[in-house]
Parts: sequence; structure tokens; C-alpha cells
Amino acid sequence: MKFGGTSVADAEAMNRVIAIVRKQWAEDAGDRPPVVVVSAMSKVTDRLVETGRLTGERLGEQAAQILADLLERHIGVASTLVEGTALGDLNAQLTADFSALQADVRRWAEQGEITPAAADALQAMGELASSRIVAAAFRQQGVNAAWVDSRQVLVTDGEHLAAIPDMEATTERARAIVGAKLAAGQVPVMGGFIGATAHGVTTTLGRGGSDYSAAIFGACLGVDEIQIWTDVDGMLTADPRVVSSPVLVPELSFNEASELAYFGAKVLHPSTILPAVANNIPVRILNSRRPEVKGTMITAEGRGDGGTLTALACKRGVTVVDITSSRMLMAFGFLRRLFEVFERFRTPVDVVTTSEVSVSVTVDNTRRIDDIVSNLRNFAEVSTEPDMAIVCIVGENLRSDPTLFCRAVNALETIPLRLVSQAGSRRNITFVMRDSDVVSAMNLLHDQFFTAKVS
Ligand code: ADP
Ligand code: ASP
Ligand code: MG
Repeated sequence: MKFGGTSVADAEAMNRVIAIVRKQWAEDAGDRPPVVVVSAMSKVTDRLVETGRLTGERLGEQAAQILADLLERHIGVASTLVEGTALGDLNAQLTADFSALQADVRRWAEQGEITPAAADALQAMGELASSRIVAAAFRQQGVNAAWVDSRQVLVTDGEHLAAIPDMEATTERARAIVGAKLAAGQVPVMGGFIGATAHGVTTTLGRGGSDYSAAIFGACLGVDEIQIWTDVDGMLTADPRVVSSPVLVPELSFNEASELAYFGAKVLHPSTILPAVANNIPVRILNSRRPEVKGTMITAEGRGDGGTLTALACKRGVTVVDITSSRMLMAFGFLRRLFEVFERFRTPVDVVTTSEVSVSVTVDNTRRIDDIVSNLRNFAEVSTEPDMAIVCIVGENLRSDPTLFCRAVNALETIPLRLVSQAGSRRNITFVMRDSDVVSAMNLLHDQFFTAKVS
């Protein structure tokens, strides 16, 4: 059971978490307790990222001040939920952890540099603190819970800020450490998002990575179901921040969920589905404010019935890179050369389209774009266009019903489309357009497929 940032935002939210876990354990988990994974309290990771930025700019005192404010917020929540010596111990631990980080940021600020490893040590504080508080709050309310340090369980490579789990090593640790708590009838409470290398250096899985942690632990422990508790009723037909009244998607296939997550449905981290697929574990998305709502069930099969599309997604602020070369004509090895440049600068591409003499790709991480462009220019003409966006329509039915594509294109008749791509899976079609057109494009598509009554 993974609870996101808004689901552990304050003492009230944490009380809801405890009630949800208690009810579920009583109702259907039998004698095996659930495993609880929590995110940092809402906005805390953003503040820690900000702390890192200030540190890098040698503003050590400002950085230390943010940490002092965060400590105060955590102690405030802890003091509402926990009492007596347990509270004393908890507050002492939080104070020690935050104070150590304050000393670190002052030192790093003097050096004027924050390494990726240092940034990970900073960002990990959010999940460490929230998980300690939630574990203590459980015990305060009579639930037999045990805090587990996720850094001792989730073993990753050393790619800081985007670490990749070592599933074999993590399975071994999870079975030993988390398994022992479960065997003792305890609810393990762990921080999501964080792990450590085999040498014990703290790492993180990348922003939004707590969902991924939950799926990793679920897979390693062979659970019956992975639950993602959040602040919406489940996967909706579109991002509620873009479309005014999206509706709940009750069932999704793993493949559909992966496409939606990959193309911007933030409710699920894009890697979450992988461990679930590998072990065929259903993933359910649920609302911690409205636990009675059934949510979205994600399984290998998805929904059985006909119907239209399943959902829409959009990814904003992407850059299109156009690569043109007359040498591409009839040349084998050209694409390899081209993609090697992206690989060298560790930049994933999302959408790819080709014509006879040109290739266009989209990237959302432009950190290394200047290096990429100058390397590509060794063998091709290159231009980039920022402020673009990807709109993606997803549904297993796209395979069987060719009219769905026509309806989507017709709905978008007023919007200039920059690239269009349908992959071999025929499960999604992506449209690349100006970012400024995204809101109208999403609403036009949503009206067409989910609101307008079409016979
Ligand atoms: P958590 O902190 O629980 O991980 P997130 O903020 O990461 O929550 O994800 C939930 C948010 O995802 C929702 O509040 C919503 O704004 C956004 N979102 C984007 N696309 C979708 C979608 N298709 N369905 C549901 N939520 C979506
Ligand atoms: N706290 C981390 C973040 O905000 C991880 C997560 O919430 O999933 O990115
Ligand atoms: Mg999230």
C-alpha cells in the first residue's frame, strides 16, 4: 500500500492512512500484514530540491533555513500524532537527521558545488522523515508497525537521481528484512523513492519514484496486489489539470497504463508497471480521501468490453529535434549513428518519426541538448524547436477499430500537427504540437471520445 505526498501531507491525512491500513488488514489481508510505503509529505521534496539549488549557489544559510522550517513542520505533525517517550525519541531522531544535513549543506555551499550524490542525500530526507513519523503514529494507535530503512532494502546502481534497482539483491534483502517483520506480524513502514548502492551510498529513483518503490517491493515480496493511494479517484480519462471533467477509468491493461504513464499521466510513475508485469501482480489506484471508491484496476487483461479509447495523456514542454541528411538516403547505419549521440549524452527520446531524408525526435530532458546538437552536426543538419508537447491517445481498441484514428484527427482539425506517430503495438497514437495548443487539443479529443454522445 503506497501513499503519495498529499496522502501523508499532515496529521489528518496520516490518520486517514492509518484507518485505511487497519481496515484493509482486518478485512482481507488475513494473517499477512500489508507493507506500507510512503512518499515525503506534500511539497517536501520540492523544498529539498530548492535547498540543493541554493547550496550550489553558495547560499548555505538560506538552504539551512529551509531545512530548519522543514524540521519544524515534521515535528509539528509528529507532536500531533505521537506521545510520551515515543515522541521524544522521534523528535530527537528527526532533529539529529536534519541537523546533520544542515551541517552538510553549509559545507557543500562553501565548496560551491552539490554533487548528484549530495543531492540524493538531501532529497532522501523527505521519505526518511515521513516514514519514521507514520511508523510511530501507527504504533501510537495500537497498530503493530515497524519502521524499515528502505536504504537497507532497495539496492540500486550508482546513477544518482535516477538510480536503477538491482532486483536480485533487493529481493534477497526484502525477503530477509521486510519478511522478518511480516513473519512477526508487524506492518513494515518504508519510505518510497529512496535506496542505496551495494556500498550503502544513498540514491533516489527519480521524481515521483515512490510508486516505483512500491512496485519493486511488491514484486520482490510476491504480494497479491500493489495499491497506489493518491489524491484522485484513480486513472482518469485525462489529466484533471488540463481537461475540466475527466471521468474514472475503472479498468486498464498493463500496456495501456504504461503508455499513459510514459506520456504524462503523473498519477503513476512510468516504471511502476514493469515489476508488476514481470510478476503479473495487479496494480490498483485508489483515493485516500475517498477510500470507498473502487478506483482503477490495472491487470494484464485490462477491460474486456468494446467501447472507444481508454484515456488521453499529454506531456508538455518537450523539444523537437529535426535531423536532416542527404546521406541518409539509402544509407544503413545512419540511425545507429544518430541514436548513439543521444545515448552518449544519456538522453531518452520519446517520439520518433522518419521521412526519406530526415528524422524527427522529441526529448523532454534538454540538459545536454547543446552537446547533442553539436555532435549531430558532424554528419547532419540539425534544428530544434522548444515549447512543443505530445498528446497521446491510448486504447487497446485502436487496433481493432480504424475509425478511432479518423475521429481523433478530425477532432484536431483546427490544430497544426507537427508530428504524428502510431507504433507497431497500435495501442497508442501520438501527436506532437505546439505547447500552446495542448489544452484545446486535449479538450477537443476529450469531448470527442468521452463526453460527446456518438452513435
Ligand atoms: P502522489 O503524490 O499521490 O504520488 P501525484 O501528484 O504524483 O500524486 O499524482 C496524482 C496527480 O496526477 C493527480 O492529482 C492529477 O493531477 C495527476 N494526473 C495527471 N494525469 C492523470 C490522469 N490521467 N488520471 C489521474 N490523475 C492524473
Ligand atoms: N517524494 C518524491 C517526489 O516528490 C517521490 C514521490 O513522491 O513519489 O518526487
Ligand atoms: Mg506521484
